[in-house]
Amino acid sequence: MSRKPLVAGNWKMHLDHLEAIALVQRVSYHLDTRDLDAVEVAMFPPFTALRSVQTLVEGDRMRLAVGAQDVHPEDAGAHTGEVSAPMLARLKVRYVLCGHSERRAAGETDELVNAKVSAVLRHAMAPVLCVGETLEQRDAGQAAQVVVTQLRAGLAGVAPQAAAETVVAYEPVWAIGTGRTATPEDADEMCARVRATIAELYDADVADGLRVLYGGSVKAGNATALLTQPEIDGALVGGASLDAEDFSVICRFHRR
Ligand code: PEP
Repeated sequence: MSRKPLVAGNWKMHLDHLEAIALVQRVSYHLDTRDLDAVEVAMFPPFTALRSVQTLVEGDRMRLAVGAQDVHPEDAGAHTGEVSAPMLARLKVRYVLCGHSERRAAGETDELVNAKVSAVLRHAMAPVLCVGETLEQRDAGQAAQVVVTQLRAGLAGVAPQAAAETVVAYEPVWAIGTGRTATPEDADEMCARVRATIAELYDADVADGLRVLYGGSVKAGNATALLTQPEIDGALVGGASLDAEDFSVICRFHRR
């Protein structure tokens, strides 16, 4: 089965809504039909910029997907400061990050990540389930075990049809924002491991269709080597997604 690669830009806590509009316009200017036929591109602004980005993308009929960086597991209630899945769905958000390592480091458990995945799927959006080991876990030879455990826990109770809509992002924690990347071969091997786990949990069809991204210091200079690996179906990009030219070069990895 051929999987359309996804390049997703996680802006983290950067850019106000005006800066967000400018960045989306510049990225859109750099990408043409050939790029967007080959690769799906999604941008994950902070909550405060979601409405501005959505209005721009929709108004100008840009072929860019909008993503959110987090969500609350409940649909509504007394949760001051939180944002729910129905609110995001109403903004035509397509993807929602669940379990980013920066949130796990702030105390998010596998159970909470799983509840967020379920909330996203309940509202017909696609979770981007982030999994990955720390340096200590890698050095202790536990990388695959950690990734498989996070994956199984994140997808607990998710039906096969819904699992097929999910995107998994393998992001070794030691590679995020550090300038260090996994080698293309190591990243590919772990993405293959993710797919094999999905096949065990569901079946070969779900595993073949599901996209597995790599994330961790993906830049213009290393994107092609990483993203042309057979088991890697795109990238979750942090720092480099804030620069329109760099991000566009990553999105055009297939041209080189
Ligand atoms: C991320 O935030 O998910 C990420 C991969 O960041 P960076 O590309 O900056 O390492």
